[in-house]
Amino acid sequence: MTKALIGLEIHAELMTQTKMFCGCKNEFGATPNTNVCPVCLGHPGTLPRINKGAVEKAVLAGLAMNCQIRKECQMDRKKYFYPDLTKGFQISQNEEPLCYEGYIEIQGEEGAKKVRIERIHIEEDTGKSNHTEDGSTWMDYNRAGVPLIEIVTYPDMSSGKEARLFLENLKERLKYIGVSDVKMEEGSMRCDVNFNLIGEERKTAITEIKNLNSFRAVEKAIDFERERHGEILNQGNSGRKETRRWDDGIGETVHMRYKETAADYRLSVEGDLPRIHLSEEFIEDIRKKLPEMPHEKKIRLMEQYGISEYDANIISAGKTLSDLFEETVNYHKDASKVCDWLLVDVLRLKNEAEIELSQLKFGAKELGALITLVQSGKINQKTGKKVLRIMFEDGKTPEKIVEEQGLGQISDASALVEVVEAVLKDNAQSVEDYHNGKDRAIGYLMGECMKRTRGKGNPQLFNSMLLERLKKN
Ligand code: ZN
Ligand code: MN
Repeated sequence: MTKALIGLEIHAELMTQTKMFCGCKNEFGATPNTNVCPVCLGHPGTLPRINKGAVEKAVLAGLAMNCQIRKECQMDRKKYFYPDLTKGFQISQNEEPLCYEGYIEIQGEEGAKKVRIERIHIEEDTGKSNHTEDGSTWMDYNRAGVPLIEIVTYPDMSSGKEARLFLENLKERLKYIGVSDVKMEEGSMRCDVNFNLIGEERKTAITEIKNLNSFRAVEKAIDFERERHGEILNQGNSGRKETRRWDDGIGETVHMRYKETAADYRLSVEGDLPRIHLSEEFIEDIRKKLPEMPHEKKIRLMEQYGISEYDANIISAGKTLSDLFEETVNYHKDASKVCDWLLVDVLRLKNEAEIELSQLKFGAKELGALITLVQSGKINQKTGKKVLRIMFEDGKTPEKIVEEQGLGQISDASALVEVVEAVLKDNAQSVEDYHNGKDRAIGYLMGECMKRTRGKGNPQLFNSMLLERLKKN
């Protein structure tokens, strides 16, 4: 039997107005090298100033992950040379991370599992190197100095799936508290994996995996490493400590470099910044801002709306989904009906189109209006689903779709009576069958009525009108 030990190091950019140590804008996608100044470019003689908003957001992240918050800490210089780091050092935290000893509980492969968090520290991001096909590299320093938190877990995960579940949970939390937009594809969340395998007689040396740009890649890279480390153990070896990168194209990790010793960062105190002192009051004020986490939300949703645990579980797992649910209930009071439409029909359309919920072309108001149209009998269930699809595709309001396409259900008996009479007249055989005790005949007559109104006649009304009329002769 072997056991995998998996630890993660996650960098997440904080959603602040400005950068960590200067007043430059923190924004993604701006024209390269427009959000820069002498401070974030590291010109000689400039001095950093710490962004209080970034510290607040980092503390909030720590609290959301059940961490201890350090009331007094220093910033350090991590010195190394690289083109994306014009200063020649990164301002980070080494000895005294702002947050430490937390955990996140995930639903692992064998039930609930606590993944411990060793530390969360604050630091600044580096610039971005853009490698072009002709072999040249263009530098963009807009990202230099953007506030980051680095989250380091203990090696508490034991499969690729568990690592993915942890990351999904972490992402949801960071989004919930509005600390980071956590988009791996835009690089505002980046993840490195540390992996090794414990065998009966020996264990393998740790492999660090980089260049993971999606949760799926993390899971696949870990599964790949599990096999590779398994072979190393089978050959009676331990392997060497190394860094590998994930190549999504070939679905394999590729060797980058061996790591015999820790890199020499010549760490020292960042003497240009004072020590950070946080008062008890400052931390408690942030704690009050901590929103409801998924587990607590689930229990509240069940109590407040009387929905099932199954539905509450799905809804509370994501902030966008739970916000949409609660807002829709404002427009249509029957929460279990809202669950039906949202969790079955809306999620199906969203999944088919492979989009995020936040990209829907309609909102709570329109969804609530649609459910009300169906529940009040203005349109039937089947038409409702058709209307939802049109709302999903072109964002029109349900009322407008019903009006434009003439989909309204006819619930006015005087408008249906002619149809009933005509159907009975044209289907004398079925009428006779009905009087001879063949109840099935009524179904056929119903179908005819629906056909002649192109599905818009109210079926309950047709049914009672037919029965009423058939009693007479
Ligand atoms: Zn700047
Ligand atoms: Mn880092």
